[in-house]
Order: sequence, then structure tokens, then C-alpha cells
Amino acid sequence: MTLLAVRPHPDDESTSTGAMLAYYHGRDVRTGVVICTGGEEGEIHDSDLDPVADRSRLGELRTQEVKNACAILGVAELRMLGFRDSGMAGTPANQHPEAFANAERVEAVGRLVRIIRELRPSVIVTDPPGGMYPHPDHVMCYEISVDAFHAAGDAQAFPDDGPPWQPKKLYGVAQIDDGAWEKLTPKFIDAGFDMGWMERRPRRSRGPGPETATVALDVRSYSEHQRRALLAHRTQIPPESFLVSLPPELRSLAFATAYFVRLSPPSTPGEHEADLLDGLDETPGVV
Ligand SMILES: [Zn+2]
Repeated sequence: MTLLAVRPHPDDESTSTGAMLAYYHGRDVRTGVVICTGGEEGEIHDSDLDPVADRSRLGELRTQEVKNACAILGVAELRMLGFRDSGMAGTPANQHPEAFANAERVEAVGRLVRIIRELRPSVIVTDPPGGMYPHPDHVMCYEISVDAFHAAGDAQAFPDDGPPWQPKKLYGVAQIDDGAWEKLTPKFIDAGFDMGWMERRPRRSRGPGPETATVALDVRSYSEHQRRALLAHRTQIPPESFLVSLPPELRSLAFATAYFVRLSPPSTPGEHEADLLDGLDETPGVV
């Protein structure tokens, strides 16, 4: 195992890391995915399902969907961490005793340490500090990934969870505003998409620019793999979604670059690497 992505919900592996996973599979790099929760609090967009009657088996359905998506992305190993979706911040699901956000930290970290020691990745990719967005599971995903990254190589920590293995590098997915969407908006409109939602968004200051990312991967060639993986999440992503219905050329431009920030060892301001695997030697991960 070379690269392991730790993601909060079934579909997060495809939305923010899908093209990256396909990119490395295309380079014969062995990849893995850990999904922290069953995604039980998601919506049901699959028109073949009943949004009420099928709700109780949503976790089961989404587990199958992530299996299908990982097969499309060439992921060699998929593991479910087994916690319950905590729901959006401020919803009743936050109080569920099995919710990921309510898990004992040591229990959640221990489960992830066990997987890291078994799969022995050199590089781990997770959510950025504070989560991709302030969903309790995204925040928790980041927190347990940092703790498990450090604990996995510590022989004193979790001694019953396998022999120590220290991955070399930990990255967070970076949400970068590189101006691509702004430039492409007239083309989206020409292609018949209603981009009013972009204009209706509350005015916000520009996000961090590409210079703040440690790694910028050109994933244009893997846009179609990512689209098919997204479509495997039938309950979450309807075929008319903007995410999957752009014409192929436009889609590859809209999702051309995947950005990451190195969290450990911490990147220095202005530091750039050509690739997530930069600097790894022949025997990565040796403790
Ligand atoms: Zn999510």
C-alpha cells in the first residue's frame, strides 16, 4: 500500500479525492480508502428508491455504492471504520450515541491505527484542519487522522493493534480558488447550465490561491473516472447534477487540478512538491 485516503462519508472519496485516486491507479500505485461512517444521514436522490421506506437501509446502500465507486477508481483496499454519520451540525443526529462525532477519541484513533498498521501506507490524505466544511464528521476525520498518523509508528501506542508502522507524509485536501470556475462560467452558461446559484451565493472573499497548496496534481485525464465514480453514488448524486452532467471537455477543465497541503511533516510557506509521492525512497514507511 502506498497511498491511503481517509474520508468521512461514502462519496467523499469520489468528490474530493476521486480523480487523485484514479491518477495514482493509472501510475500503478497501490491505493486504499478508509470511510469513517456509513453516511446514514444522507439524502436519497435515487428515483428507484423510496426516500422514506428505504431510509433505514441507507447505510447499507451507501456501503455498496462506495464499493462500486472504489472499483471504478482502481482502489485496492476499502475499509469502513464503522461509525454512524453524525449529520449536519445542529441536527438531531448529532446526539446519536453511535455518531462518529460522539465516539471516544481513543477508540476511533485505535481503529484507524489498526488499519494503517495493516495496510502500511507511505502517504495518507485526509480532510484539512476544521474539515472541508464544518460538518462534524469532516472535522472528526481530520482530527483522528492526525492522531492515528503519529500513533501508528509509536510502539507504545495501541500495542494490541499490530506492529508499529510510521507513514512518511500526511496531506489534507486543499480547497483552492484558482479562478478556473470564474473563467469557465460563460462556457457553463453556453452549455445550457443555469449558473444563477453561483451568483446567488453570499458574497465571500476569495479563497486561498494555488500558491498556498503544497501539491497541485493535473488530473484532467481522470475526469471521466471521477464522473463514473460519482455516478456510482446513486442515492447522493442524481444524473442531472452539475457534478456529473457537464460535457466531458468542460468537465475536465472545471476539475483540472487537485490540490493538497502537507500537514506532516508540516510544509513551509511557499514550499511546493511535484507529487504526493515526492521524496519517497525504495523502502517507504520503514520504522
Ligand atoms: Zn462528507
